[in-house]
Amino acid sequence: MAQAAASKLSDGALNIIENISRRVAEKNSGRITPSHVLPYLPLSIGIVQDALNQMVDGTTVTKMPGSDYAEYEFTAFKDRKKESDMLNAEHCIGCDTAMHRESKAVICNQCSDLLHSEMNNLAETTGWPAYAAYEHDFLYHATAKGSCVQADALAGTSPYTLRSTRKKLEKMAINHSVKQELDREQGVVRYHFPEVEYPRDYYDSNMDVIMSYPASVMEEIEIKITKIMISLGFLFLAMVCLAFYGIPFPFLLLLLAIIGPAMSVVIWRRRKKVEE
Ligand SMILES: [Zn+2]
Repeated sequence: MAQAAASKLSDGALNIIENISRRVAEKNSGRITPSHVLPYLPLSIGIVQDALNQMVDGTTVTKMPGSDYAEYEFTAFKDRKKESDMLNAEHCIGCDTAMHRESKAVICNQCSDLLHSEMNNLAETTGWPAYAAYEHDFLYHATAKGSCVQADALAGTSPYTLRSTRKKLEKMAINHSVKQELDREQGVVRYHFPEVEYPRDYYDSNMDVIMSYPASVMEEIEIKITKIMISLGFLFLAMVCLAFYGIPFPFLLLLLAIIGPAMSVVIWRRRKKVEE
């Protein structure tokens, strides 16, 4: 799981996440959830949350008890007015070097490279890009639809099936990244996301980075390999059954040699379709 991942980061990388969290908190009257930091960093909620947990000391940073979401309060900014515009930086938030004014990035290329290389190492052991891929996808589309959505609305804009979308949302609800609400009258489940500003260009550039890690599609590959193994198992069983009915063994072997690879290729290449 990506949850304990931040403890494996260097102080430099952790400092970038902390500084951005602090700046975002400053604009949000001191209160943020990990989702508030997501538009600025191509990371998973688990990594940001872990970094925030490490900042908690009970005085300067507190974890809010009884909140709907995993929420953190930065005491110094409690009385600040809430600002709705996006964070912008004339100096890199990670290392304070001057930045190009026209760039929307909040960290310089050097800080970005440092984070990228550490995240790459972490991807191999924790598989965090697989989480980040759907967390950014859901957060962007949910906020574009007004923060409160049903699973099928998100499945319709994501590469995941409705069943898989529901499972992912349930996982996010358990981690307090979203709030699940059952509307008994209409018999539907709604998901509330923290109110976060997430513009399309921020989302696109984050997704480009996340999808560049091979682990971002790990889940899809694991499912496909499992399906292929199960199908090959069934095929083998069918062949054994046919052998009992006196079908010549070399003929069955030939059949297995043709159908096996063909079936594997079909399963491998089949794209997931969104369930209606
Ligand atoms: Zn920097």
